[in-house]
Amino acid sequence: MNTLIDPFGRQISYLRLAVTDRCNLRCQYCMPEKGIDIVPRQELLTFKEMYRITRVLSELGVNKIRLTGGEPFVRKDFIGLVKSLSHNDRLDQINITTNGALVKDHISALEQLKVKSINLSIDSLQPEKFLRITRRDQFARVWEAYLELLKSSLQLKLNVVVQSGFNTDEIVDFVKLTEKEDISVRFIEEMPFNGKGLREVKENWDFNKILNHIGGSYDQFDPVESGKSSTSRNYRVKGYKGSFGIIPAFTRTICNDCNRIRITATGLFKNCLFDDGVFDLKEVLRSGASDDELKQVFIDTVSKKPRNGFEAEANRTIGGVSESMSTIGG
Ligand code: SAM
Ligand code: SF4
Repeated sequence: MNTLIDPFGRQISYLRLAVTDRCNLRCQYCMPEKGIDIVPRQELLTFKEMYRITRVLSELGVNKIRLTGGEPFVRKDFIGLVKSLSHNDRLDQINITTNGALVKDHISALEQLKVKSINLSIDSLQPEKFLRITRRDQFARVWEAYLELLKSSLQLKLNVVVQSGFNTDEIVDFVKLTEKEDISVRFIEEMPFNGKGLREVKENWDFNKILNHIGGSYDQFDPVESGKSSTSRNYRVKGYKGSFGIIPAFTRTICNDCNRIRITATGLFKNCLFDDGVFDLKEVLRSGASDDELKQVFIDTVSKKPRNGFEAEANRTIGGVSESMSTIGG
């Protein structure tokens, strides 16, 4: 069959593509202070290659793409890539995950393209703490981008990585933002994708702890219907315009309905966030594979997609999870 179905009958329709491994911030949960060893430019997929991969995958049923990184907006002419992807009629939705520092001037261009939604990563509403977490003094620019995005036609989601010892005291402040604004704030469980591995923490802020914590301040919130393959469980406080969600990224209770594959900035194909890259797509592309050959490689690879993130992690050949999320594409 000319479509991407995994051994558990899950249809793959969503590609997460990292457009670069470079970033203008240094979030402490994502990479070490000195940054990561970025690869030489020629090791990155070109935009032409990204366009082709996406076209071929869209012919196999992928209809949604998330552009991420690294920071997508640091790659030269990123908007040019979004423009060309917008011409692909098989894609229904292009979404972008960004730290926001370079977004403000591009919002109106994005509104004209196939971009539906922006995930803005912001882990603190306090400039000093933001600086401590990201190791860069960029809060003002990110906040400006937030305010501009609110005015735009783009759907806005905030990504907040819940970091024990850093920002758990702000969880309720983030929920409060949803009172007046039609945004979705999503709390993400911290994972060990930081260039070093699991961080020692006093408290383990998993899905249940985050939800119970919010329950301590709000006794009335209801589940919000989310799509079958949504990465978050979502809720709305009674009377609030927006919603909040929790992404069980580390406890991995959402794998059953996974519809996603990932491609890193250097062209590693990943069936799961927790695998260590199941084939080098760049090598296949650059050795002159035809579209049909590429399709066959994708179909064969997806036919081996593991059941869940635990199985993917157990199958790793390069040791435990510790690579930076900026190289994988979050
Ligand atoms: N630079 C962009 C940004 O920060 O939005 C896009 C890339 S970033 C790797 C994508 C998402 O992954 C961000 O929301 C970030 O907070 C999240 N992330 C990065 N490292 C993480 C980790 N160790 N655990 C959980 N989420 C992480
Ligand atoms: Fe950069 Fe995003 Fe990683 Fe922060 S989370 S260092 S912004 S790639």
